[in-house]
Amino acid sequence: MTVLDRSDLLKERPRHPEKARLPDTLVLPKPAWIRVRAPGAHEFDATREVLRAHRLATVCEEAACPNIGECWGKRHATFMIMGDTCTRGCAFCNVRTGRPGALDPSEPGRVASAVAALGLAHVVVTSVDRDDLDDGGAAHFAATVRAIREARGPTSIEILTPDFLRKDGALEIVLASPPDVFNHNVETVPSLYRRIRPGADYRHSLRLLASAKALHPGLFTKSGIMLGLGERNDEVLAVMDDMRAASVDFLTIGQYLQPTRKHAAIDRFVTPEEFQSYKSIAEEKGFLLVASSPLTRSSYHAAEDFARLNAARQASLGA
Ligand code: SF4
Repeated sequence: MTVLDRSDLLKERPRHPEKARLPDTLVLPKPAWIRVRAPGAHEFDATREVLRAHRLATVCEEAACPNIGECWGKRHATFMIMGDTCTRGCAFCNVRTGRPGALDPSEPGRVASAVAALGLAHVVVTSVDRDDLDDGGAAHFAATVRAIREARGPTSIEILTPDFLRKDGALEIVLASPPDVFNHNVETVPSLYRRIRPGADYRHSLRLLASAKALHPGLFTKSGIMLGLGERNDEVLAVMDDMRAASVDFLTIGQYLQPTRKHAAIDRFVTPEEFQSYKSIAEEKGFLLVASSPLTRSSYHAAEDFARLNAARQASLGA
């Protein structure tokens, strides 16, 4: 089977033309386990057509996800609402930073229509940070969840939200139309926040996750971190403990990949064996589910993992 880079898949549309002129960017050579497989062209193109027809952005493209070939080849895409411009400037993220435009009230309906067109059994919706809005975009998130419920009742819904820092009441607005899974990524260990995630607050992110569970105990909560940014082993284990203290159900751990040379450098490539070891440790700490591998991303295999979450909950209730 053909093996290729994510950049090969997106040649049609360079994300940042100015950055596309840079030579391929990783300072460290990519190990073999980071390579991704070519998609089936037909399904990949069909997914892209639905997204273009509905004028929707995806984090798959905007964040330069390495799994786009596999996911779009299975008609699974993660919608990114509220525009393609973020008010934060995280050092790991490929999404454009700047002043976003006004929200488009037709967007929730377009997302719902695309979910129906793709026939999704499980959908993941995320967004850029919208610190410019009074509610951080919470009402728009809730409207999107409602629109999907109305258009596709059986589709399970997962939202991956910003931190709503200094947006009092935003979480309650978002969860007034409860999704099935509430995801918010802490992204990295707290000692790296100033360099990697400036503008965010590790403790606040944990509080957000804990509050979501407290508001809706039946909701699955989910969070993730990237490895390879310079974190220490003991710091990773401490993050796991913090997440468990916040009642997080599902932990995702993946390898950080540098989108361009302007982004934070890769400190190291973590081996698949180390990812497996972290998975075992996290499971012992009591997470309902753990996904840990070099190519794990928040929304990677989300539909399959939602089924696993439900099965794990049933098993724990029966135990
Ligand atoms: S892992 Fe998530 S962001 Fe990446 S291509 Fe798949 S659905 Fe898109």
